[in-house]
Amino acid sequence: MTGQLIDGIAIGKEIREEIKERVGVLVDKGCKPGLAVILVGDNSASRTYVKNKQKSSVEAGMKSELIELPDTVTEAELLEQVTRLNNDDSIHGILVQLPLPKHIDENLVIRAINPAKDVDGFHPENVGKMIIGQRSFLSCTPYGIIKLLERTGTEIKGKHAVIVGRSNIVGKPMGQLLLQRDATVTYCHSKTEDLAAFTKQADILIVAIGQTKFISGEHIKPGAVVIDVGMNRDENGKLCGDVDFASAKEVASAITPVPGGVGPMTITMLLKNTLHSAETACAEGKCSQ
Ligand code: NDP
Repeated sequence: MTGQLIDGIAIGKEIREEIKERVGVLVDKGCKPGLAVILVGDNSASRTYVKNKQKSSVEAGMKSELIELPDTVTEAELLEQVTRLNNDDSIHGILVQLPLPKHIDENLVIRAINPAKDVDGFHPENVGKMIIGQRSFLSCTPYGIIKLLERTGTEIKGKHAVIVGRSNIVGKPMGQLLLQRDATVTYCHSKTEDLAAFTKQADILIVAIGQTKFISGEHIKPGAVVIDVGMNRDENGKLCGDVDFASAKEVASAITPVPGGVGPMTITMLLKNTLHSAETACAEGKCSQ
């Protein structure tokens, strides 16, 4: 069997076209959605992510603001910027690119963002609302994976979803979103004994561990849908996932590639969250360009 390729580039593009149309409607009403990104220091990976986010938001017709701060910035100075953006009606989404330098408390900074502008979905208020099933901003990567599953017609209800990885930004919210859609969910992590015994039971296998090609065909139940979140570099410096694509695709019924699977969906969902925020602000008459 050779699994169907789940094309995150094509699905992301389709959703971004829909977003662009809705942005146009808001702009016509005088409410241009605005996304502000705070980048601290000079981490080259962070800079690339931020550039891509800015480029995509501008392509969608949004206002994009980049606040670059040196890695010597104090926590108080960073919080001041967050407060300024919280009070700026032309900004609907605020994102602080992680990781932050060690002298800054990331949790404190995340909690300082107005939950109504927390388009990364990391604020405890949004995480709490997500868990009890209330409308909230959803963490972009798991939200993007749900869209991939929906748009490829993958049945979730009643299926066994196994999540490998339990981080706050991917694994944990991923399981919750699948549970809400009536999957039976199993979480695995670095202390799981006999990992393969669990992964082999998965109808939907989601791998987010940050370990190059860790999961291979022999860990996968024939016919499973496999979502590879990992973004790693192999021994030749080539981008690759947590799943060994070559062996996994022979067993899976559908599988995401790396690159071109989950990655493009994460940015797309950031734009979607920003759009939602701007639509809400516009409906409440709180928008200025
Ligand atoms: P974290 O490092 O925060 O978490 C990794 C998780 O994997 C932990 O829960 C850890 O378990 C678990 N884990 C690590 N090693 C093993 C193992 N050998 N067996 C089982 N579980 C293991 O990572 P993130 O969730 O932030 O990211 C995971 C991967 O996804 C990374 O490659 C990252 O780059 C990528 N990523 C990609 C995104 C995209 O848009 N495509 C977005 C976000 C992340 P424990 O809790 O026990 O330590």
